[in-house]
Amino acid sequence: MEEKQNVIYWFRRDLRLFDNPALSEAANAGAIIPVFIFNELQEDYTLGSASRCWQNQSLNSLNNQLSQRLLAFIGDPKEIILKLAKESDSKTVYCNRCYEPWQIELDSKIKSILKEENIDVITRNGSLLWEPWTTLKKDGSPYKVFTPYFKNRCLSLPEPRKPIPKPTSLIFADISNKTAIKGKLILPKEFSWEGKIKKHCQIGEKAASDKLDNFLKNGISSYREHRNYPSKKNISKLSPHLHFGEISPNKIWHRVRTSGQSEDLDHYLSELGWREFSYNLLYHFPQLPKNNLQTKFDRFPWGDNSQQLKKWQRGRTGYPIIDAGMRELWETGFMHNRLRMIVGSFLVKNLLIHWHYGKEWFWDCLVDADLASNSASWQWVAGCGADAAPYFRIFNPITQGKKFDPFGEYTRKFVPELRKLPNKYLFTACEAPSELLVNSGIKLGKDYPYPIVDLKNSRESALVAYSSISRKQK
Ligand code: FAD
Repeated sequence: MEEKQNVIYWFRRDLRLFDNPALSEAANAGAIIPVFIFNELQEDYTLGSASRCWQNQSLNSLNNQLSQRLLAFIGDPKEIILKLAKESDSKTVYCNRCYEPWQIELDSKIKSILKEENIDVITRNGSLLWEPWTTLKKDGSPYKVFTPYFKNRCLSLPEPRKPIPKPTSLIFADISNKTAIKGKLILPKEFSWEGKIKKHCQIGEKAASDKLDNFLKNGISSYREHRNYPSKKNISKLSPHLHFGEISPNKIWHRVRTSGQSEDLDHYLSELGWREFSYNLLYHFPQLPKNNLQTKFDRFPWGDNSQQLKKWQRGRTGYPIIDAGMRELWETGFMHNRLRMIVGSFLVKNLLIHWHYGKEWFWDCLVDADLASNSASWQWVAGCGADAAPYFRIFNPITQGKKFDPFGEYTRKFVPELRKLPNKYLFTACEAPSELLVNSGIKLGKDYPYPIVDLKNSRESALVAYSSISRKQK
């Protein structure tokens, strides 16, 4: 029997076997060496604590699917891939594309280093429905507004490709006599998030697939309306699985498409469209994580109250819906989208704290922390991004709490010290009669904080700050 050539398969943000285009090609081409590299040189974009923990669990799960053959290295991918290719006599490296600016730069360096050694790098699209260079406007410029991007452009293109089956057989290269290649999966330390993540999350390709099945069975009907209510089970929670590539957007797209026709299904697909739009923005505006897309915001008079920032981070603002959202994040590594918008608005508008601080805290705490979606969403919340919520739309946390958690289930779950307060005063504890507070076991300022800002005054200050930059704009 003809011996198969060795090829390297480099797993990155595609920790799955099903619908993995580059892996399927690698499997057809030769005997594979599956590898993952913890890149220590990512500098600004080192994984946050919660994501690191998710990634470790996900790699463990992938390693099991690969019969414990996954090689994991910590270091510089440029050196590791080259050394591995030479040592294993591999002439081709396969991987799916990544779209973060730093990763694009690194990939092009790796390609040229390997080319000099006559080693090919074959890349495919394993994580987007539409790659950013395929969705430009007629004049060749990128879209900055979601609706025409999605409806006029994406939906006019051929449907995203159908998912491809997992490779029927994976033949692994025999590298047992190569001493320089260590075959053990050694994961970096996980710190304090490990217990929390294990308690709240099922991780890996099977968990992602089960979650999609369950959502399509039990959550999609009335998604359009109920997706805004954090106590309802009408969201998919697929974002971390999508981020780490445990499931492909193509699989989700086609499963949803073949589930029937309804406004709920269409709305769900448009949310996947927001994910694509974020990648479109990051690709065409690589400064998105750092710079305001609307440059007039460079002059915005941000405050710098670190005490208030800390209280926001730990859910001690005295506004129950904000505190519930921030505590959900801290306790579970996830936060409902409606809450992300409310707590974001509170930080940048009521506290006048720069969106960078919110983005960084989310980056560290979210299991779905994603450079494209997090940066685009924070710019959206702050009003300085593409197609952003207007700055003067300032969410009132009391009204938002009453509207989206009318019976208080979500708020009481994460702010249990208020659980005995009746709905009428749940979002305005400081207006509750003192006798009711006593009967509910709450001493304000001790068991639960007084509000850290006055909503009316802080709203007015935000509008004054905003008008100061608007006036100066030509
Ligand atoms: P579902 O409602 O089930 O939606 C399905 C999928 O669509 C999601 O999994 C996600 O991939 C995509 N999606 C939905 N809404 C958005 C959106 N507004 N922008 C981009 N994609 C979207 N999402 C991340 O994946 N990573 C982040 O780091 C992130 N940071 C955010 C920060 C802020 C301030 C805000 C307001 C939103 C952020 N989002 C982020 C978007 C959104 O909140 C999450 O994608 C969503 O809550 C994930 O829950 P889900 O999977 O149940 O969503």
